[in-house]
Amino acid sequence: MRVAIAGGTGFIGSALTKALLARNDEVWIISRKIPKAQHTRAGLQHVTWSGLAANPSFLEGMDAIVNLTGETINQRWTAAAKQRVLDSRLTAASRIAELLITQKHTPPLVINASGISAYGISADGIFDETSPTAVTDFLSKVIRKWEQAADAIPAERIVKLRIGVVLDKQAGAFPLMAIPYRLFGGGKIGIGKQWLSWIHLEDIVRLILFCLDNDHIKGPVNASAPVPVTNDAFGRAIGKAMGRPHWFPVPAVFVRALLGEMADMVLYGQRALPSKALDNGFIFRYPTIDSAMLELFGRSKA
Ligand code: NDP
Repeated sequence: MRVAIAGGTGFIGSALTKALLARNDEVWIISRKIPKAQHTRAGLQHVTWSGLAANPSFLEGMDAIVNLTGETINQRWTAAAKQRVLDSRLTAASRIAELLITQKHTPPLVINASGISAYGISADGIFDETSPTAVTDFLSKVIRKWEQAADAIPAERIVKLRIGVVLDKQAGAFPLMAIPYRLFGGGKIGIGKQWLSWIHLEDIVRLILFCLDNDHIKGPVNASAPVPVTNDAFGRAIGKAMGRPHWFPVPAVFVRALLGEMADMVLYGQRALPSKALDNGFIFRYPTIDSAMLELFGRSKA
């Protein structure tokens, strides 16, 4: 299989690249710049967005294009940062659309990243792919526009991967979330009842491969574990896995003062279920938070 990955240098993209190369697929990473320390690996090529614009035929004959591009949301949400978060996603999706329009053949598949925030913030709703989307806050507004941009990409099949918080021991949000527990100061954040729809890095990579390999999967796909947890239960699971207390609640007002609008990310959430993946026979390697914690801390306990 020939797969182009925009944002293939990132957290999820590098793990996906590794997995595709391991099964002898050919990977083209689309990036803003070619990495300096480029390891020559059989089957791996890099191309810049400008190189692609000059020669769109690179995309001809791709079996799939996976778009994981986006400015990080893990920064203070100033007006300028919010604009970059939105623009980077819309620009990448529309660039892909423009490039594909020029191709002789419509590509079989485009997988575009999206987020569980598509359903908006909710204290008690349960959302699968049949649930209506909602705009309640900054992230859900970004997702609404991002999915609209993805819908405009010409492809035989579009998958919009509504990703939950991706957990990995080395990168992403998890190492930061574990810091208070390392310092014996872990506890629930705000009321602790807000939902966290999460997925282990290995499972999201496996789910993307599953979408690549199963032609009938299309439209929105919730990329989150079958058993979401509340913030309180998540903290308890970290504490249990690390052998550290879960006892030091962080008041919402403190989080708001520290993070500004970005506090929404930790004070609110949504409970998503991966119905489409499960109905199509996908088996999660880490379905419960305890199973994920076992892997995240199993080999490298605090
Ligand atoms: P990363 O931040 O690790 O990587 C995203 C890639 O996007 C980067 O490698 C970079 O590629 C490119 N990029 C970053 N900033 C910009 C910018 N300003 N303009 C253009 N390109 C930019 O993201 P993840 O791998 O964590 O996530 C992939 C996608 O999935 C993202 O869009 C994210 O929003 C979404 N997602 C991720 C979740 C998570 O928990 N990780 C949860 C929900 C959704 P390069 O430098 O090569 O151009």
